[in-house]
Amino acid sequence: MSGIIKSSGLHIGVLGGGQLGQMLGLAGIGLGHRFSFLDPAERPPAAQVGRHIRAEYDDPEALERLVRECDLITLEFENVPEATARWIDQHAEIAPPPQALAIAQDRLTEKLFFQQQGLAVAPFVALDTAEQAQSAFAEINGPGILKTRRLGYDGKGQVRFEDSDGVSAGFEQLGRVPCILEGLVDFEREVSMVCARRADGQMAFYPLTENEHQNGILYQSRVLTDDPLQQPAQSACRAVADALDYVGVLTIEFFVRNGELLVNEMAPRVHNSGHWSLGGAVCSQFENHLRAILGWPLGSTKPHSAALMRNLVGAMPQPSAVLQLPGVLLQDYGKSARPGRKLGHITLLAADQTTLDAQSEKLEQALADTPFG
Ligand code: AMP
Repeated sequence: MSGIIKSSGLHIGVLGGGQLGQMLGLAGIGLGHRFSFLDPAERPPAAQVGRHIRAEYDDPEALERLVRECDLITLEFENVPEATARWIDQHAEIAPPPQALAIAQDRLTEKLFFQQQGLAVAPFVALDTAEQAQSAFAEINGPGILKTRRLGYDGKGQVRFEDSDGVSAGFEQLGRVPCILEGLVDFEREVSMVCARRADGQMAFYPLTENEHQNGILYQSRVLTDDPLQQPAQSACRAVADALDYVGVLTIEFFVRNGELLVNEMAPRVHNSGHWSLGGAVCSQFENHLRAILGWPLGSTKPHSAALMRNLVGAMPQPSAVLQLPGVLLQDYGKSARPGRKLGHITLLAADQTTLDAQSEKLEQALADTPFG
């Protein structure tokens, strides 16, 4: 990433073509750019807003085409092979930096990196063999979660345990792959921060959101106003982003325990908990990601009003049933329905928190009443 300010009318290549790519594309078309998305899926959501190069992420021909034809490459999927990002880095401009991707892909490396930045994390210990289960459990000394070091998402690649037998069983269940054992954090709430950083170090921070999960999948994110942890979270984000020479949007998820932040994980990309910013903030996370990688001035992260984002998982509602409610914005990713699959989201906006709570209840009612399909 050279940090040179880019013009408009560029061809931006994106590794991944899911809904995050779709929303990046929608924002970027408005800024005068066009897109190519590399994604092995047959018809990924982003194919609706740009050219789809259907290939594996390590396909040499597809990668050569991407660097030959695109002015700048970014990503929306964090499990792109590190080698792919590093190869692109040698032949074209890529942001965020491959180093950020490499760290985020491995829970152990990620935790050690956070500690190096002076950030608190949940107690953890690495587990590579079945023989280590007993001693690993003894170190944690209490219930916890066994997580695969790589390729976990939306609660996948995780098993809860109570004792060392549970660790052994979990290790088998996860396929005897390298794992980390994490002590269970008795958190009051989970929050995340989405921020954007340019190559020159300028940053913009969105307000923290409080996130609720169901079955390991994000269910709802509420935008927090004047939260006492906003500044500490910003400092943590700055420490991480500066250490990585980060360029683009970065997201950090935290547990809040005894009123203090523990870093859970980071995503080197736009994030589900920032979707509310599309329509709910002056400048969305998608536009700010593009502004950051282009070296353009970052946009205001200020919310227009009280806001929350509600994911639509497994089934979509009838649009008219939810759009009749005031303050509702609906985003449909155009994906086929499947249990546990994120198909779209609703952003709910209201003048104040009390009205937002009341509207949220009505929204839940409408979602419960409407025939899904
Ligand atoms: P992760 O994939 O690490 O974000 O984990 C998914 C979800 O599992 C988190 O959002 C938490 O709700 C829960 N979780 C993960 N790790 C822990 C932990 N160490 N203690 C308590 N809950 C956890």
